[in-house]
Amino acid sequence: MDGLNKSMYDIGSDSAFAILARSQELAKSGKKVINLGIGQPDFPTPPNVVEAAIKALSDGHHGYTSSNGILELRQAVVDDFLNRNDVSIDPNNVLITPGGKSIIFYTMLMFGQPGSEIITPDPGFIAYKSMIDYTGAKAVSLPHRMKNNFSFDAEELLSLVNDKTKLIILNSPANPTGGVVPKSEYDKLVEGLIKFPKVFILSDEIYSRILFDDHKHHTLLKYPELKERVIVLDGWSKTYSMTGWRLGYGIFPKNIFSYAEKLAINCHSCVNSASQFAGIEALKGPQKSVNDMIEKFRTRRNFLVEQLNLINNVDCKKPGGAFYVFPRIKKNDFTSVEISKFLLEKKFIATVPGSSFGENGEGFLRISYANTLENLKEFIKCLKQFIDE
Ligand code: PMP
Repeated sequence: MDGLNKSMYDIGSDSAFAILARSQELAKSGKKVINLGIGQPDFPTPPNVVEAAIKALSDGHHGYTSSNGILELRQAVVDDFLNRNDVSIDPNNVLITPGGKSIIFYTMLMFGQPGSEIITPDPGFIAYKSMIDYTGAKAVSLPHRMKNNFSFDAEELLSLVNDKTKLIILNSPANPTGGVVPKSEYDKLVEGLIKFPKVFILSDEIYSRILFDDHKHHTLLKYPELKERVIVLDGWSKTYSMTGWRLGYGIFPKNIFSYAEKLAINCHSCVNSASQFAGIEALKGPQKSVNDMIEKFRTRRNFLVEQLNLINNVDCKKPGGAFYVFPRIKKNDFTSVEISKFLLEKKFIATVPGSSFGENGEGFLRISYANTLENLKEFIKCLKQFIDE
């Protein structure tokens, strides 16, 4: 179809959703499909959170809320942020959105235009590049290599910054690799960025609660030097198994908050009020379900990493966070798309090809372990068969 705004032809899509659709098709035709493709926890939303939403509806919260989100929710975000990160933020800088993805879109609209450059992780979450491309800005790949445990190298990142650079996107713990950026790398980056005072950073911290072993989360808002130019993205989807509630937030510096809010007003008006009340309960209520979920994820990650590394031609790092492993898999001269396709069509196991996250993802597969240990065992069995066939 032609005749649309030409930027429309530049928007990419998220292959995880296409793979989900194909998996559902196969399942409908009677196949037992194991879905390790989609990035959502396999646990229900905690019951106290569901109750809070039901109560909000019974209490008559049916209308619009303020566009930036109800104050009690923004205050709960402030308290949670202080509690987890020891950083004080102002509720007036918090924008509640229908999922963290909206923050990505709005931020790209704010910074992207032809002639400007945005540095983005490669491999990295697909929505970043899709939306950069849509704005006409140039997406500059920041390699996250296996040998660096899928973190970036601050020197390399700084070498990519120039007069055209408007924004740097960072994501730790990361989708698709589970990689965690060490504090030492952030320290180097922050020091180097003093020379580039106009460059903003979007720090996607949506997996910041899902960390293992002795990995710690380091929010970029912890650096006072960056306070006026860091946007933090976080939300409820992953931590509280609330992907379908569509609830996320951005913390914007004061100088640009009003622009983000205008985009929100013109686009989504506000998030549905029941979800917002649920979000308050999630942050303020008991956290046991979060801790239990992380414990389950840890067991599955350990199982997968150990078993994957026992398979010929498979090499897997132990990720520090999120709920993905990102093994390198060699099978003849198959591309990651071919491997993923084979696993779905012949073994009925959905995975996401590494190349869909950027050039540096070629040769890898993203495996979401938001699935039962039993299904992960089946996956290992099938992958072994596939490699040996
Ligand atoms: N950032 C990253 C890195 C993600 O993986 C996701 C979800 N897959 C999001 C943001 C957006 O999540 P949501 O819109 O559900 O809050």
